Amino acid sequence: MIQLIRGFKDILPAETALWQHIERTAASLLGDFGYGEIRVPIMEKTELFARSIGEDTDIVEKEMYTFVDRGGDTLTLRPEATASIVRAYIQHKMYADDPVRKFYTIGPMFRRERPQKGRYRQFYQIDAEAFGIESPLVDAQMIYMLHTLFERLGVQDTQVLINSLGCPDCRPRFRQALLDLLDGVEEQLCSDCRRRKANNPLRVLDCKVPGCREAVAGAPAIIDYLCDACRAHFDTVTGALTAHGIPFVLDKRLVRGLDYYTRTTFEIQTTALGAQSAVAGGGRYDGLVQALGGPATPAIGFAIGFDRLVEILGQQTQITAAGPALFIAAIGDAARAAAFDWSLRLGGAGLYVEMEHGDKSLKAQMKRANRLDAGHVLIVGENELAAGKAVLRDMATKEQTELPIDGIVDALRQRLAP
Ligand code: AMP
Repeated sequence: MIQLIRGFKDILPAETALWQHIERTAASLLGDFGYGEIRVPIMEKTELFARSIGEDTDIVEKEMYTFVDRGGDTLTLRPEATASIVRAYIQHKMYADDPVRKFYTIGPMFRRERPQKGRYRQFYQIDAEAFGIESPLVDAQMIYMLHTLFERLGVQDTQVLINSLGCPDCRPRFRQALLDLLDGVEEQLCSDCRRRKANNPLRVLDCKVPGCREAVAGAPAIIDYLCDACRAHFDTVTGALTAHGIPFVLDKRLVRGLDYYTRTTFEIQTTALGAQSAVAGGGRYDGLVQALGGPATPAIGFAIGFDRLVEILGQQTQITAAGPALFIAAIGDAARAAAFDWSLRLGGAGLYVEMEHGDKSLKAQMKRANRLDAGHVLIVGENELAAGKAVLRDMATKEQTELPIDGIVDALRQRLAP
């Protein structure tokens, strides 16, 4: 038997009710804050991701699903959504009337990471991006939205970590200070980090290898190197969070793996998931729109790990799809034919109805109605057809009522309409 690909998974009907609940809650909240849905393709030219995420990142170096299509183009399954949304923003000149645009998208991302609990090769993100707003208040607003979403969903034990990555004005000074330190500990670094030191030294701070962590334990913190403008920006973000009751922790080591981040960067962590503790991450990327050929446009975004949210909430809550409003237990060919007609008409009128299509005993049919968690069962056999009456049983109260078969569809609609 052919099995699914390692790191990929099926989301079965028993689980999709929770996925839909999360998706609806997120879409409604984002809508309330003015974020409109955008749907971008799951595949783009490889160059888009290489340029926006950065050549020396784990994602671009080792994790992308890249292939040459039959026309000779090099394409990649998207590892994240920001790059595509930025491309769309530029390509459709969405900045023209008003550079302030806010989008969200929900969908699958692909990274060839080592699969483990909470880490998949196809995973889903809820992603939001705001363009054209330089004010630090939008940074605070994004964190506020995440906080509120987790609260609405009932996700417990989350923690907001925040840092600033500075800007092209102040980062070079920090970079130099970091390089000075790295020069002294080069032999302790893993081979990846030695290469990173040359290309993207900030990423050494992100390395999980114990030797590297130890080597950079005394590294300078970027937050101490901010220019006045970045410092003021960061203070306004943290001030707004405090004023609005959002607890946060300054994490001087939070650098994130993506190249295009500037200034505010944040992560939401939870203790509920073991090693894969990050449920959401995001930050500013004020330079990216211009770097990809658009006008200079400040921007900020976040991505929530949908699968991880599902895992957390699945431990806490049980959301199941509603059972049928009505199960028609029909006995005999004539009753089944009538039941089929009624079920079509009731289904067409917006009522969820199930029936037994096989030749099964009443007992077996009642058992199935129970298993499906039907609200009511309509019992109809030859005797009922002859008498012109069917029996409607309320499965919760066990109360039974006779309903005239003449006009039964309208009567059922009235009684059972949600
Ligand atoms: P990133 O796009 O790397 O900033 O990730 C944002 C969020 O997506 C993380 O906080 C995780 O919750 C989630 N995420 C990232 N990679 C994976 C993965 N391979 N499997 C499941 N969730 C992931």
